[in-house]
Amino acid sequence: MATQKMLKFVSTPREMPVKRPATERSEDFHEIYREFADAKAAEQASRCSQCGVPYCQSHCPLHNNIPDWLRLTAEGRLEEAYRVSQATNTFPEICGRICPQDRLCEGNCVIEQSGHGTVTIGSIEKYITDTAWERGWVQPAAPVMERSESVGIIGAGPGGLAAADMLRRQGFQVTVYDRYDRAGGLLTYGIPGFKLEKDVVMRRNALLQDGGVDFVLNCNVGQDISFDAIRGKHDAVLIATGVYKTRDLDIDNADAGGVVRAIDYLTASNKVEFGDEVPDFEDGELNARGKRVIVIGGGDTAMDCVRTAIRQGALSVKCLYRRDRANMPGSQREVQNAEEEGVEFVWMSAPGSFIGHVPGIAMQAQEADVDGPTGKLAQIAQVRVQKMRLGAPDVSGRQSPELIEGADYDEPADLVIKALGFEPEDLPKLWGVDGLEVTRWGTIKANFQTHQTSLPGVFAVGDIVRGASLVVWAIRDGREAAESIAGYLTGEARIAAE
Ligand code: FAD
Ligand code: SF4
Ligand code: SF4
Repeated sequence: MATQKMLKFVSTPREMPVKRPATERSEDFHEIYREFADAKAAEQASRCSQCGVPYCQSHCPLHNNIPDWLRLTAEGRLEEAYRVSQATNTFPEICGRICPQDRLCEGNCVIEQSGHGTVTIGSIEKYITDTAWERGWVQPAAPVMERSESVGIIGAGPGGLAAADMLRRQGFQVTVYDRYDRAGGLLTYGIPGFKLEKDVVMRRNALLQDGGVDFVLNCNVGQDISFDAIRGKHDAVLIATGVYKTRDLDIDNADAGGVVRAIDYLTASNKVEFGDEVPDFEDGELNARGKRVIVIGGGDTAMDCVRTAIRQGALSVKCLYRRDRANMPGSQREVQNAEEEGVEFVWMSAPGSFIGHVPGIAMQAQEADVDGPTGKLAQIAQVRVQKMRLGAPDVSGRQSPELIEGADYDEPADLVIKALGFEPEDLPKLWGVDGLEVTRWGTIKANFQTHQTSLPGVFAVGDIVRGASLVVWAIRDGREAAESIAGYLTGEARIAAE
């Protein structure tokens, strides 16, 4: 019977792969979980109850066939499990590592709902494809027929790369342009190695290249080549440029020295881990070593910053967030990891102003810290922290933070990292293309299913359409857009994905 090895959730408790001790892992940028051993992966997969209506699958943006690959893993049929898993997901081992499973597949697993603890879907997905890499089952695209039509993809993040992979497997000529020197987008330069080790991303880039995808790196579209020139070179274009404009603070001395943007801080740290020379890190500006660090924000980017600062050897790391723990957007799993590693969360708190004056130092000295005519504070010394309480729910149902008058205090700080979220850059203006329509939020307007924009033959996916979102959604968009582009180029209805 197919389910013989399954339904073990009553007798077998839920187990994650072993987490390295906080003292050990906060010394390096390696992933924090050890590998599942074969037997452990099979045992954990066998907990699945093989639901007829699998909520895990309906809450996975890629609708991964989770019950089937769990059963195959439990039965030791790993190569088949890999084939099923990769049929719906371009980067299963990446999603297994960094999807917020507690909000997606695992959070909706029925045995989690019945109090037995979810099947550890993400860890098993990672295990299956890591094993596939080890055993040589992951192979580059080998199209049965080359096609003459070419597609230019702007942006080598997960959205652009998922589309590149699907199109190339169907024989299209694919060129991916990116302004960075390495492909991967935020997988490479945003997300730190302790969540996603970089060789996992680099081997994917190499696989795409081996399959015939051309990469044009260090190429900033709009500067090094115009958008129109790219349209002229290719039969279809996909925009997958992500969102990089940092939301800012409107407070006194918001631009003080020692106050940096999360994306600059994380990119520098990732580059250092690659062994690159990073002058802003070497001169200390983007290095937390020996500093009292305050990170502002409560999302996943903030969590990545606090944990990076710990690894860089910060003196102390505090995270200011204006709501409480229950109302923060970041994953609870990440908050727990951060706390274990020594981060202090200061809930219901927001920055009121940045101050350069250190108590006990004469005002003249404080004024000397201000750069000439710009009036910019040369170096932050303290954050004035305002205390908040939660008021009535807003239109989205979330309680709005309200200021508690007179409860301010000053918190010493040498480095402040702003992790307040990202917005889209104004692409039509930057690229000089009037016909490219955007929404009122500045994201590109694209058809929800076909991903076609207002310009013929131009498609768009990922964060530049959705606003800051998740890797798994960018992958889904990229795969769907590839089908749609293939249909557009061949005049056929949408081509079924492999
Ligand atoms: P991106 O990954 O942003 O890639 C866009 C690419 O386009 C970049 O390489 C950029 O260089 C390139 N580009 C932009 N403009 C140009 C131009 N003019 N010319 C040439 N190239 C250009 N999601 C999760 O699911 N799990 C997580 O744990 C997670 N952690 C995150 C941590 C951080 C710090 C951040 C910032 C985001 C995180 N996310 C996470 C979100 C996730 O990374 C994004 O949703 C996802 O990467 C979006 O994919 P994308 O392909 O749309 O864009
Ligand atoms: Fe879960 Fe993400 Fe994998 Fe889907 S892709 S099964 S949401 S970990
Ligand atoms: Fe298995 Fe949970 Fe999915 Fe049901 S919801 S099929 S128990 S993983």
